[in-house]
Amino acid sequence: NPQAAKIKATVAAKPIPKDKDHPPPPPPLVFEPPSNDRHDGATYQVGKMLGKGGFAICYEGRLQGSQKKFALKIVKSKMPTKMEQKFQTELQIHSKMRHQNLVQFLRAFAFEKSTYLILELCPNGSLMDMVKRRKGLTEPEVRFYSVQIAGAIKYMHAKGIIHRDLKMGNIFLDKHMNAKIGDFGLAALLVTGKDMHTIRRTTLCGTPNYIAPEILEKGKKGHDHMVDIWSLGIIMFAMFTSKPPFQSSTTDEIYRRARNRDYEWPMTEGTNKYISQEAKEIVADMLVEADRRPDPDTIVKHDFFVSGYVPVKGEITATFRDCAPD
Ligand code: ADP
Repeated sequence: NPQAAKIKATVAAKPIPKDKDHPPPPPPLVFEPPSNDRHDGATYQVGKMLGKGGFAICYEGRLQGSQKKFALKIVKSKMPTKMEQKFQTELQIHSKMRHQNLVQFLRAFAFEKSTYLILELCPNGSLMDMVKRRKGLTEPEVRFYSVQIAGAIKYMHAKGIIHRDLKMGNIFLDKHMNAKIGDFGLAALLVTGKDMHTIRRTTLCGTPNYIAPEILEKGKKGHDHMVDIWSLGIIMFAMFTSKPPFQSSTTDEIYRRARNRDYEWPMTEGTNKYISQEAKEIVADMLVEADRRPDPDTIVKHDFFVSGYVPVKGEITATFRDCAPD
């Protein structure tokens, strides 16, 4: 199957992080050069490392002269072409986004052979860390996060942006334990106007477990943005069970199972990991053909959301904090 061979090749070609691609550790003080809206520039005190990504390293940074803390995302100014492209997309798209459930982009500047992005700080790790630690979340918690992620997807789609790489590891937790989608490296801009969906991004991107089957097929046009709804379905399943539904040892097997919607909910009877019929129903609703997937507004009107408790903002902090890393 030439198509499958091509997919395999593309997956294998995904840049694998190498240490030489990462920037060297930053000095204790980072200087932001003067700019139009900051005539005197700024100084950041570098704190602890937050994490390493494909080509970036993130550190905590405090703006000197204030108590404000940010995430400093650092990338080498000279990067391999492929990564440079990913980074440029990320910059362009991310800097235009503003929503309470997207990591806020604040500034970007060059300093000592590196590019620095100043981002809203999410000090409580990713949703993936939390779900792993807790071995699955409760229904109210899943409602809380799903509503937040659905809201962010609605916002992005309204702006003509498809994220394309939504997964638990890309959803960070702010100091109030709110979900913030980060990493716009694979996002794509839909061409707006009459031919809104005519440009198809044929590059295979995303993480095997979260990829919608139509990305692997040719000739299905017009519902590109629905790949994010598929990913939300996968994320919801994973929040409940702590693993994605099609998890397998090979990428081919993951794709095969995704195409056949071959997944099973774990037995939860008699345990404290209750998963309701409504929950299973809304997840199944999202894992269908692209043109039949519900939009974010329809999702949050489903019985799963309206007939059960949804924690209010801030309330989640007390129950979650104990589990958050320090
Ligand atoms: P890449 O684009 O190279 O994949 P990421 O954006 O995933 O890099 O960032 C790498 C790591 O840095 C993440 O896995 C996470 O641990 C941490 N990180 C990224 N953004 C933030 C943020 N806004 N607040 C806190 N930590 C962050």
